[in-house]
Amino acid sequence: MEPICKNCKHFRAHYVKTGRSYNQISDGHCVYPMLKIRKAATKACEHFRERKPAQAAR
Ligand code: SF4
Repeated sequence: MEPICKNCKHFRAHYVKTGRSYNQISDGHCVYPMLKIRKAATKACEHFRERKPAQAAR
């Protein structure tokens, strides 16, 4: 799995509302060890923990 924020269990994706649905965008934030803005494609840091398949980016 590619070591980028999108694939880390600490990443939370952001969404935009389009009509009646929500679409995931490339922006998001990290919740560990403190809150910070990150892009899905940002290179992973030393706190990277691989997201398990059931933990799809939300
Ligand atoms: S900044 Fe580090 S801990 Fe946060 S989502 Fe990216 S790889 Fe994971």
